[in-house]
Amino acid sequence: MPRGGGSSLAGQTVGEALVIDFTPHLDAVVELNAEERWVRVQPGLVLDRLDRYLRARAPHLMVGPDPASGKRATLGGMLGNNATGTHSILYGNMVRHVAAAQALLDDGTPVRLEPLPPDAWAERTRRAGREGQLYRDLDALLTAHRDVIERDTPRHWRRNSGYRLEYLLGDERNVAQLLCGSEGTLAVVTELTVRLVDRPRRTALGVVHFHTRREALRAVPTILGTDPSAVEFFDGRSIRQARRSPGFGHRLTFVEGEPGGVLITEYYGATEAELTGRLDELEDTLARAGEGYAVVRVTDPAAIANVWGVRTEALGLIMNVRGDHKPVAFIEDASVPPEHLADYIDALA
Ligand SMILES: Cc1cc2nc3c(=O)[nH]c(=O)nc-3n(C[C@H](O)[C@H](O)[C@H](O)COP(=O)(O)OP(=O)(O)OC[C@H]3O[C@@H](n4cnc5c(N)ncnc54)[C@H](O)[C@@H]3O)c2cc1C
Repeated sequence: MPRGGGSSLAGQTVGEALVIDFTPHLDAVVELNAEERWVRVQPGLVLDRLDRYLRARAPHLMVGPDPASGKRATLGGMLGNNATGTHSILYGNMVRHVAAAQALLDDGTPVRLEPLPPDAWAERTRRAGREGQLYRDLDALLTAHRDVIERDTPRHWRRNSGYRLEYLLGDERNVAQLLCGSEGTLAVVTELTVRLVDRPRRTALGVVHFHTRREALRAVPTILGTDPSAVEFFDGRSIRQARRSPGFGHRLTFVEGEPGGVLITEYYGATEAELTGRLDELEDTLARAGEGYAVVRVTDPAAIANVWGVRTEALGLIMNVRGDHKPVAFIEDASVPPEHLADYIDALA
């Protein structure tokens, strides 16, 4: 069983197996091509370490998917469970960013998986051994079940169930994409090439305040209409808990009054003027829709880092709440159309 940081949330790397831990020795950057905007890495490399490497050598570039576990999550693990992150609405999951992979099949055969136009794919089907067999079997599977894959594959992108066979229906096909979300069940990746995206030059936050959780969640579609790079909910209970906790109260400078929840809304921009325009547009849009009672603007980089830090750390505060009543995580990573979010959470609460 291949294993990276072991941070998967459903016990993917704790089964009974021969565990191959890539983090101690296979964690190097192999090659960076800033001009063509890709990086080739070993699977045990931790995302935050790669980010520091890129900041030093190609500061205008970064990896798109940014799971909150970036301090421990490895690139191999992120491929394995097709990770995404806070900026999912911009970048989607790893399947959109993995360009190629070097992998070992179940009998140890090494294969290079990369985008193949039809003639290159046909050449692979003629190869000897397990590699040729793999391409012939895939051809047979895709031919026999093409209709079902086209008809029944859910249309929304935010899901990770099953193998991503729909990525192999085009003219140019890349089996590396099939490994994304395969949880180590198809092959063991020994090297992967990841496409890089532009690192935003500047960001700004509009922290939108609401009297109730329902009002906040109902406003999400309106806010998405302003093209933010991220929208994260910070609920009133967590805010109250953070206010009471030593070392946290003074950091909540971005919260006004006693909101039932806030939506931390982030925008990317090249200049300060552009970001001011984006925040003006956010306020105008909310005013027209009659949603939210205040928008606190956060534009200083240190203050922005503080907002995200509080948002991330507050989860830990809730988990450590004193007394007999403890929160229990029982639904992980549900994917809900934004227009149904308020009803969905109300029905659960
Ligand atoms: C606090 C926290 C926050 C998180 N936030 C997010 C988030 O915002 N967005 C998100 O999408 N996810 C999130 N996650 C889950 C996230 O997807 C994982 O943390 C991360 O992507 C997995 O990386 P890892 O190195 O820990 O992988 P592991 O857990 O070690 O492995 C993940 C899967 O990949 C397989 N695998 C590992 N290495 C290889 C390899 N070399 N070849 C083939 N398969 C391999 C494993 O067998 C396993 O099935 C979070 C998890 C935590 C604990």
